[in-house]
Amino acid sequence: MNSHSSPDEPATPVRVSTGRLADGEQVQRLLTEAYERYALVHEGRVADYIPLLAQASPDLFGLAVVSVDGDIFTAGDADYEFSIQSVSKPFVFALVAEALGHAAAREKIGVNNTGLPFNSVMAIELNDDRTANPMVNAGAIATTSLIPGDTADAKWQFIQQGLSRFAGRELQLDGEVYASETASNRRNQGIAKLLAGYDRMYFEPLEATDVYTRQCSLNVTVTDLAVMSATLADGGINPITQQRVVSADTCKRVLAVLATAGLYEHSGEWLYDIGLPAKSGVSGGIMTAAPGKGGLATFSPPLDSAGNSVRGRRATTMLSDVLGLNLFASKSAE
Ligand code: GLN
Repeated sequence: MNSHSSPDEPATPVRVSTGRLADGEQVQRLLTEAYERYALVHEGRVADYIPLLAQASPDLFGLAVVSVDGDIFTAGDADYEFSIQSVSKPFVFALVAEALGHAAAREKIGVNNTGLPFNSVMAIELNDDRTANPMVNAGAIATTSLIPGDTADAKWQFIQQGLSRFAGRELQLDGEVYASETASNRRNQGIAKLLAGYDRMYFEPLEATDVYTRQCSLNVTVTDLAVMSATLADGGINPITQQRVVSADTCKRVLAVLATAGLYEHSGEWLYDIGLPAKSGVSGGIMTAAPGKGGLATFSPPLDSAGNSVRGRRATTMLSDVLGLNLFASKSAE
């Protein structure tokens, strides 16, 4: 056995320990309160390295919670569509872990934090396994390259259908975002080619980058993101459609990687303050999963220096506290 083999099956069934989400009235009240409070924050900058994203209004702000029972709560711009960007990464990783098994997925991609920005080339040079993890661009493009399918189109279909199952509705490509990012995509192409040089790319690198760019250009609302994260929080069953999307084991692994690397080089601070697995994206979305309770998502385009939504981070910090979501919080037995 090498260090990447899966552990022995436990002799007794694994126990799952979770609480429940607060009652609906309280969730809605606190969500509205978080919206009103953080709509007043005007910090951070809208991303501009993908030309079309620079046009997003800094005033957009939406919040959504979806419980594992399928209740939906929203505040602000909950129906506004934006490109999913890096929030696609955990869901594509989930599809790959499901198809290959979690042990092979770890061996081919890696699951450790880089401590460096999401599109770092230096991280590839510094880490022996090169790809680092599925939440930074290097590991994410490698993950996309592992999606089942012999052609780029087949892989794309697999991803679009898989992410649509997570969302419980058919997600569509934003053609303008895709064109804009394709025209400014040299760095990701370089990362994919560099990985190919290290035998850590599992499909033709430029085609894999193109499929990755398409996956980032899928349009979602903040409510979609909350449904998608609620599916990960619900052991792989979409609480709205009741469809099983991936196994409970896959969810457990995906959430572990998110806790480690979902907020890039701020992942440690995020876990320290919020205590939940989460993923951010450059268009301003953040999805957060509270296992056994539900999914929380925020959307607001202005970002901090690590590329995470400023209002999203503040609102999630508050909601994790007031809704009692932090995974590490416990009371003494006395
Ligand atoms: N499509 C973007 C990129 O690869 C996604 C980055 C992000 O959301 N942080 O550059």
